[in-house]
Amino acid sequence: ACPVGALIETPHWHQVLHTLAQRRRISAVQVAPATRVAIGEEFGMAPGTVSTGKMISALRQLGFDYVFDSNFGADLTIMEEATELLERRKTPNAGNAKLPLFTSCCPGWVNWVEINRPDLLLHLSTTKSPQQMHGALTKRGAFAGSLGPAFAAGQTEPYVVSVMPCTAKKDEAVRPGVSGDIDHVVTTRELARMIKARGIAFHALPDDGAFDHPLGASTGAAQIFAASGGVMEAMVRTAAHLLGMEQALPLEWQPLRGVDQSVKSAQIPGIGRVAICNGIAAAQRMLQTEAWREQFIAIEVMACAGGCLGGGGEPKSMDPLVLEKRMRAVYAIDQQAPLRRSHENREVQALYAGQLQAPGSARARALLHTSYAARRSTRLLLMRFLDCVDRRDG
Ligand code: SF4
Repeated sequence: ACPVGALIETPHWHQVLHTLAQRRRISAVQVAPATRVAIGEEFGMAPGTVSTGKMISALRQLGFDYVFDSNFGADLTIMEEATELLERRKTPNAGNAKLPLFTSCCPGWVNWVEINRPDLLLHLSTTKSPQQMHGALTKRGAFAGSLGPAFAAGQTEPYVVSVMPCTAKKDEAVRPGVSGDIDHVVTTRELARMIKARGIAFHALPDDGAFDHPLGASTGAAQIFAASGGVMEAMVRTAAHLLGMEQALPLEWQPLRGVDQSVKSAQIPGIGRVAICNGIAAAQRMLQTEAWREQFIAIEVMACAGGCLGGGGEPKSMDPLVLEKRMRAVYAIDQQAPLRRSHENREVQALYAGQLQAPGSARARALLHTSYAARRSTRLLLMRFLDCVDRRDG
């Protein structure tokens, strides 16, 4: 199911359970937005059942000291990526940053570009994915500092796990330049196996489990990252704010939504025309001509059909409407959220007021941005193989 990233679910979940049982390190876990609308299917619930509270309760019973939300990282990703887009607009195609800007939070897409179209690398946003931003903040940022001097000085590290809908996120966690911020990545299916292995009755868990703070606060804009088109829609909401047009533009962009594997687009007044490629095949079709270079200012690509809702680590389903049902759940969470724009996240605001100073600042760029390089697929496979051997031996 994974187009170009890690091809198998390596058995990291056994090691996660083992490490948690040892209780030698403070542990923290983050969960991706697509996980909460799908994990219930592993326990017989209907597709699209929102199980956020039960999932948090299960993670606490598994032994995690802190349960955080990748959505905090998603809000931060939007702050940096919207700023980056507007900066590139000021000096289009100058230096090492080109327009149109391609989103980069999907490692399947990033790997595909690095291997197949390295000529596009300067179009990729340098903003890290929500997983990697969250990992950096947990391991080396404000959270680690809050645990005490030894953590702040890096002498002791929290044990950091992420739960993702995606096998390619395992590969992302060991990319050059970001490796070490996430100790282990488990998929939605693997989390279900962990819960079953510990004999936890998921159905009976309380629904009111809540994320820890500060890295558990988020907005509706972060939740829609789970669906194809969601990253772009979230970025438009904050770019409009940065341009002083927040009240003039709608919050929702229906033409950018949907699970059909097409290239969708919309003209955003004051910003420009944006495009959504739902699946690698859609991106390949778009790239067959050069028209995209002039047509669009920003392009979102998610490697999996339906975006992360159709990720290789999500529960398998025989329901032909499973993606639509998960997608409806995602947009319902956004509609019910008290805050729906990433820049409204007060914990994100506090982070910029303190440690990070401002979106795009030198501090933010050091912690929250990355780089890309052309690479051969054999190298990717070798890196992945060595990582598997290393982790099994460890
Ligand atoms: Fe992973 Fe989501 Fe990209 Fe699929 S679309 S490869 S699940 S990040």
